Amino acid sequence: MKAEIITIGDELLIGQTVDTNSAWIGSELSKAGFDVTRSTSVHDKHKDIVTALNQISAKTDVILITGGLGPTSDDITKPALCEFFKTRLITSSKVLSRIENMISRRGFTMNDNNRRQADVPEACRVLENLIGTAPGMWFEKGGTIFISLPGVPPEMKYIMTEHVLPELNKRFKSQIIIHRNIMTFGSYEAKLAEILSDFEASLPQNIKLAYLPSMGVIKLRFTGTGSNRAALTELIDKQIVKLNKIIPDLIFAKEEEPLEKVTGRLLKENNLTLCTAESCTGGRIAQMITSVPGSSDYFKGSVIAYDNTIKIKLLGVSEEIIEKNGAVSEQVVRNMAEKARNLLDTDFSVATSGIAGPDGGTDEKPVGTVWIAVASEKETIAERFVFGNDRKINIERFSLTALNLLRKQIINKKMV
Ligand code: AMP
Ligand code: MG
Repeated sequence: MKAEIITIGDELLIGQTVDTNSAWIGSELSKAGFDVTRSTSVHDKHKDIVTALNQISAKTDVILITGGLGPTSDDITKPALCEFFKTRLITSSKVLSRIENMISRRGFTMNDNNRRQADVPEACRVLENLIGTAPGMWFEKGGTIFISLPGVPPEMKYIMTEHVLPELNKRFKSQIIIHRNIMTFGSYEAKLAEILSDFEASLPQNIKLAYLPSMGVIKLRFTGTGSNRAALTELIDKQIVKLNKIIPDLIFAKEEEPLEKVTGRLLKENNLTLCTAESCTGGRIAQMITSVPGSSDYFKGSVIAYDNTIKIKLLGVSEEIIEKNGAVSEQVVRNMAEKARNLLDTDFSVATSGIAGPDGGTDEKPVGTVWIAVASEKETIAERFVFGNDRKINIERFSLTALNLLRKQIINKKMV
């Protein structure tokens, strides 16, 4: 069961409109059991549309086409479809009367552009569009189904949901596709792929593994194909159990969840409270934590101690320690975490001090260096990390790394 997508529109190719149609259609077709093998975007040009249609693989079962069905002169999908299917445009009286009703209800008068929207290729079956003027069209040629839909996302989704997906589900029910996401943090793609190479090689033929990295978080996506949902789910579950034995420390969630949500839940379940003392992250950790609904149950507040005077005056960090070691140091970050924990009266505290860049690095402390401390009643731990030169990315990675250190400390129950 293979499917392809063709999106039509100059705006998609010049970056004016983001092609959300392909993403949505891809996700829906995948849920319906299709393997989406290609997505192509082409200009509103007759020749380009016909060429794209001719280039479709012979093995493809379904082609989804969106765009170019509007009432204006730049919308030329229908004549291109006519050439490809060797057919001509005829007026659909049913579509015409629906458009007339819609236009008169809105108090407008019909013009030629509106009338042209009722013209459809003779070879197609019309898919009614009750929320807009351009209808969808269903063609079949040489065992392949071609479906042409308006580009306007709500209209495309309406016709897909009302007509296309129910019919495709009826005609192609044999294959099931299941995706499962496992969230990891603390390694990098090339390294993780090396650790998991034997595991990957041992996966059953119908289960594939993909690595989706973003800011240090690597999402491992299992995609299984089969004909029995329960059996396929069980098979994927077994692989996840195996994976968990190989990288227990790296996995933070067995479904798609952000680190701040998982960490927040751990705090809540263990009845623990948290505060942050942030220098280089400027409150980003606090922002991530408070973006989770219900965070007031465990998060008390933050001191953004960016300047040394604030570290000294507000947090009470020792001036001597800063002078002796520099602000970006193990001693200072430990002191920040401990002082904040006392000041804000919490079970845990997290502190950061680093060089986000692009300037300010030295040989000893290059741009991208960060010291992170996590303090609890039991102990204070501190670790140094070195990332890259991009300020925004560094702040994001410092914050996620701090959250992950905190998560590990809570799991270790070091505070009890
Ligand atoms: P059309 O059917 O080509 O007249 O498209 C009408 C409008 O739908 C365009 O102006 C875009 O704003 C939007 N649109 C078209 N194609 C896409 C797409 N692939 N993804 C998201 N929006 C789209
Ligand atoms: Mg268009």
